[in-house]
Amino acid sequence: MTDLTELGVAAIRDGVAGGDFTAVEAAEAFNANIAAAQSALNAFIVATPERALEAARATDAKRAAGQPLGKMGGVPIGMKDLFATAGVQTTAASHILEGFTPEYESTVSQKLWDAGAGMLGKLNLDQFAMGSSNETSYFGNVISPWRRNDGGNAALAPGGSSGGSSAAVSARLCPAATGTDTGGSIRQPAAFTGIAGIKPTYGRCSRWGIVAFASSLDQAGPMARDVRDCAIMLEAMAGFDPKDATSLNLPVPEWEAGLTADLKGRKVGIPREYRMDGMDADVAKSWDDGVAWLRDAGAEIIDISLPHTRYALPAYYIIAPAEASSNLARYDGVRYGLRDLPEGANLQDMYAATREAGFGAEVKRRILIGTYVLSAGFYDAYYTQAQKVRTLISRDFRDAFSQCDVILAPTAPSAAFGLGDKTSDPLSMYLNDVFAVPASLAGLPAMSVPGGLNREGLPLGLQIIGKPFYEQGVLNAGLAIEQRAGFTARPEKWW
Ligand code: GLN
Repeated sequence: MTDLTELGVAAIRDGVAGGDFTAVEAAEAFNANIAAAQSALNAFIVATPERALEAARATDAKRAAGQPLGKMGGVPIGMKDLFATAGVQTTAASHILEGFTPEYESTVSQKLWDAGAGMLGKLNLDQFAMGSSNETSYFGNVISPWRRNDGGNAALAPGGSSGGSSAAVSARLCPAATGTDTGGSIRQPAAFTGIAGIKPTYGRCSRWGIVAFASSLDQAGPMARDVRDCAIMLEAMAGFDPKDATSLNLPVPEWEAGLTADLKGRKVGIPREYRMDGMDADVAKSWDDGVAWLRDAGAEIIDISLPHTRYALPAYYIIAPAEASSNLARYDGVRYGLRDLPEGANLQDMYAATREAGFGAEVKRRILIGTYVLSAGFYDAYYTQAQKVRTLISRDFRDAFSQCDVILAPTAPSAAFGLGDKTSDPLSMYLNDVFAVPASLAGLPAMSVPGGLNREGLPLGLQIIGKPFYEQGVLNAGLAIEQRAGFTARPEKWW
């Protein structure tokens, strides 16, 4: 029998439905890969092999009874450890939530289980999803399965914050995984590991039960090996949820059925401000390749301007910490996880001791920045100003989309960097998000698909940004690129 871990979401779903193999066999194969890779890659915080088997048995029983199996029937997946999972520890990769076992299930994870998926485990991430390399995790960083082609074995970042998800999918530990994206955390890790990932329009996926980072930006989405698998999984994840006040009350389109790589009549905008001085030559070349592929698929390519692009990153690094400082106020030692109660301490001391011990350095930095920009006297100078910039960025996109249907840009300014390369310089880490945050600030759907390898043999991602609610156009452009890029590279197995 073929190695089932070579299969993606569609192939497993169809293989189980067609009786080529059982869902239990698929779950067992991925469980085995996870166990074998954990010590080398550290992609999971907890593996839940029994949960995967339980869901698989339910799918196999349904098939035997002739019942429908669901959009994700028989597909085992990884769950970013930011989604609350009933009865399974949910930590956001923090010490403060270590040992926290929710009583409830997030809406998105529940939808996936209802669609027939099973859980292989909870995936590692940057602490509270703050970071671009997975190095802020309390549980140790994930190591990318990829290595440079220089014969060395330097450990590389899998991207962040969804770095456990990206490493696990690219190392064949799961066919797909959930991610969340506040300022690039689905797209940049997907780019770093040669996989696909889509952040839908803000509001498509319910945020209920996802540990909050910056609520006006947070969106869940799928990370998988190809565009079709992303479309399938997004259909299962999306949908109106009355428990999330920002949830979109719109029907979920049939994105998989709507896939086409024929872009005749479509216009693709190329934003001139993204072509920055000193741009990495390989990134620039991959962007040019992407333009040529979309043209070949029938699209008309036009030059567009997004004039406020250079203010997006500074605005993001005010708005996201501001919201985080407010969201993270709830971790006080009273309600969840860690409690540090020194001898003779009063309530204030307990709050302080718990937060001092429970949050990592990057999380503390964000809370301090956020509290500062929201404080009386500085609020207007920073927070209000950043909100105005956010409006201008949205307006830039709205104007651009009067001329084009989707926008093509690189996902990140570089390929994967080495672990430790940027940890002493937070600003250089933040700069890695430069191409990702504008779409986040504007709430737009955006996807990363593999565009090729750089001269070091590492994957580069191409980003497609769409109008609000136009995930279909984003996926279709992604498919057109995927079919032409012929990206079959994968990390050589060393773990
Ligand atoms: N790297 C960005 C940050 O650190 C984005 C994180 C995210 O999207 N969750 O804030």
